Amino acid sequence: MTPGAPIPSDPLAPDAVAELAAALIRIPSVNPAIAPAEAHGEAAVAAFACEWLTARGVRAWLEEAAPGRPNAVAEVVGGPGPTLVLCAHLDTVATAGMTIPPFAPEVRDGRLYGRGSYDMKGAAAATMVAAAALRAGPFGGRVMLALVADEEHASLGAHDFVRRHRADGCILTEASEGDLVLAHKGFVWAELVTRGRAAHGSRWDLGVSAVARMGRIIAALDRFDRETLRARTHPLVGPASMHGATVHGGAGISTYAPECRLEVERRTLPGETPEQVMAELGDVVRAAGEEAEIRLLLARPPLDGDRDAPLARAVREAAAAVTGAAPRERGVAYWMDAAVFAAAGIPAVDYGPTGAGAHEDVEWVDVASLATTARVLTEAARRFTA
Ligand SMILES: [Zn+2]
Repeated sequence: MTPGAPIPSDPLAPDAVAELAAALIRIPSVNPAIAPAEAHGEAAVAAFACEWLTARGVRAWLEEAAPGRPNAVAEVVGGPGPTLVLCAHLDTVATAGMTIPPFAPEVRDGRLYGRGSYDMKGAAAATMVAAAALRAGPFGGRVMLALVADEEHASLGAHDFVRRHRADGCILTEASEGDLVLAHKGFVWAELVTRGRAAHGSRWDLGVSAVARMGRIIAALDRFDRETLRARTHPLVGPASMHGATVHGGAGISTYAPECRLEVERRTLPGETPEQVMAELGDVVRAAGEEAEIRLLLARPPLDGDRDAPLARAVREAAAAVTGAAPRERGVAYWMDAAVFAAAGIPAVDYGPTGAGAHEDVEWVDVASLATTARVLTEAARRFTA
């Protein structure tokens, strides 16, 4: 498909979304930060998205989130009503180990195969088709597309978008199997460092092992995870959790270890803050009778959507109108860009297609669910901006 290929009269025709998704998959856009060897970046696929939208009368342009890492942004204005963002990411994870051709999309048994089909060029195509459909018919407000870069690494694209634009709501379109996702967990990465006293391995009277000190801390953190965090649960996303992810220490087998470093990952519930997580880590270390330097490496907020807010209502009613049944409502454990929008004051929920194999060797998205997603997004936009 070329961006200016013949335009079907109905942008929401069943095969239109799958054809566009296949065109997006054919343009490799592996995130350069996570796979430097492949390192396609998002420039080519973002340019294609802009051309495709422009050819259908939708105003579209590129915004550099970082050098060579553009977002494709688009806008359709139907009236003075609220602004809704439809968001999808254009980057993908790497292709090593894949057992299907990553960039030669194929439809078999109603499934579209290829890298990014499920995560998430299929949904990106659904947002683009929805924009084209809205352009063709009346609606009451403004719809923007945020086709962002770098979701799979540091979310540079989503952060750049919310710095530049204001909106009243955002539907993220990560695969949700047709469910309405109202909440997800956040995470905190932290590093703990213990100090010992280096000494010759024979000098038990002088040496203090930083590794042994860290061992006591690891045991205490593990108990805290199993006994305290697992009992702390949220109705939509389940329990909080933490794990010791990496540990490095010691200077040689015949030396008392002068230093030991532990990296922990803590998955947070809606309502939990990085400050609280850091304070709890300090408490656990102290309660174990130990001392450690504790440093925050990275924090991403959780999402806590309001099921009675206009945004959730618009998506619920749109899904019910299109599919004949109200969507299941739930939270998910993994992190998404939705929280970037919410943290910027833009209420966000997630609704997307069905499939399997995100980040895996065989990735596919259900073609019928792409068409359904496009129709639900179009209908939700009409309702939210009315
Ligand atoms: Zn994704």
